[in-house]
Amino acid sequence: MIIEPWIRDNVCVNAHPQGCFQQVKDQIAYVAAREKIDGPKRVLVIGASNGYGLASRIVSTFATGADTVGVAYERPAKEKRTASAGWYNNEAFCALAREHGRQAWDINGDAFSSEVKDETLETVRENLGQVDLMVYSIASPRRIDPWTGEIYSSVIKPIGDAYTAKTVDFLTGEMRNETSQPATPEEIDHTIRVMGGEDWTLWVEELLAAGLVAEGFRTVAFSYIGPEITRPIYRDGTIGKAKEDLELHVEGINSILKSLSGRAVIGVQKALVTRASAVIPAVPLYISLLYKVMKAKGLHENCIQQIYRLYHDFLFARVPAATDEMGRLRLDDWEMREDVQSEVARLWLEVDNNNIAELADLDGFREEFLRHHGFGIKGIDYSQDAEI
Ligand code: NAD
Repeated sequence: MIIEPWIRDNVCVNAHPQGCFQQVKDQIAYVAAREKIDGPKRVLVIGASNGYGLASRIVSTFATGADTVGVAYERPAKEKRTASAGWYNNEAFCALAREHGRQAWDINGDAFSSEVKDETLETVRENLGQVDLMVYSIASPRRIDPWTGEIYSSVIKPIGDAYTAKTVDFLTGEMRNETSQPATPEEIDHTIRVMGGEDWTLWVEELLAAGLVAEGFRTVAFSYIGPEITRPIYRDGTIGKAKEDLELHVEGINSILKSLSGRAVIGVQKALVTRASAVIPAVPLYISLLYKVMKAKGLHENCIQQIYRLYHDFLFARVPAATDEMGRLRLDDWEMREDVQSEVARLWLEVDNNNIAELADLDGFREEFLRHHGFGIKGIDYSQDAEI
């Protein structure tokens, strides 16, 4: 069938299989052309099918030569409905990894559940033996408590006061002010339960209890801080509270890993277009301005560049780059550079419906959004029938 992007409320609900295959291949080509990294050989990625997790799996396999187990929650194709992008990405990754002589195993299901944890541990035991690196890269709207069955939903809201800011519909280019009402205490708590550090810790505990953690094990989870402009909705909001909680869990994980000389770290990554960031108030406008400035300065990176740099300069470098005062790896260093941020802040004040096309990189935002679903990829003929 002919597949065209199907977008509802700025969420793309379908995906193009050949386009997804090609964009995974393009990420692999980026890594394959770079210096190899002396890193882990047995890697577990939680949230492996998209964004930072997929990039971590690609860098693990194609830069450090690792075999991988990937856990993700994706939807297969059904009748006339395509699979989700992550489903196709996983198929593409596994096929290309095997072609390259590396092994890859996928677990598709809810990583928060005990069943998926058990199945993953079994797959690791049978195939990898132990794990040298676990990348924790889940972005999820909800979590079912594995003990009580309670459903927690994460929300992206400010805390305390309502937040009004400029935002843009990145599809139409229309700007407007949007007000987000403050979260209730329950919403704050639920967001922490979903996106905080509890589940990351559980994964490490379960791997440890099963004897699957290798000596010198590393685990990394991803955080975001961002600029003053988005502070009320991001870092000082519900999701920021969850990120603080994630960061606070590092100490506890490090203490349980001590006997194996293991270490947990936080990678503070840069803002990128993903399915989630497209629907956070103010963030699409901030990202469009940021892309404009970073591209002009030759500093722009996507997930794959960020993760290659994370492995090459920080995690597995002979002389690792410095961490911040809290021990976090600051991959947002270029985004947060003074010259970048002051330029973005200046554009933020200036931008309106008349000049947005000129001041912001809306095309770049749209292209990247579509690319995540396999659309707009060079070399794919979208007028041809595609097998879903
Ligand atoms: P993404 O949406 O691209 O990928 C999320 C992954 O999580 C997918 O593989 C999905 O299948 C998986 N997943 C979701 N729910 C799951 C579940 N219940 N069980 C198993 N797998 C599940 O997300 P992303 O943007 O790459 O974000 C990954 C992490 O990086 C998040 O913690 C996010 O907060 C953080 N981060 C993102 C940005 C950004 O700008 N995108 C910046 C800094 C940090």
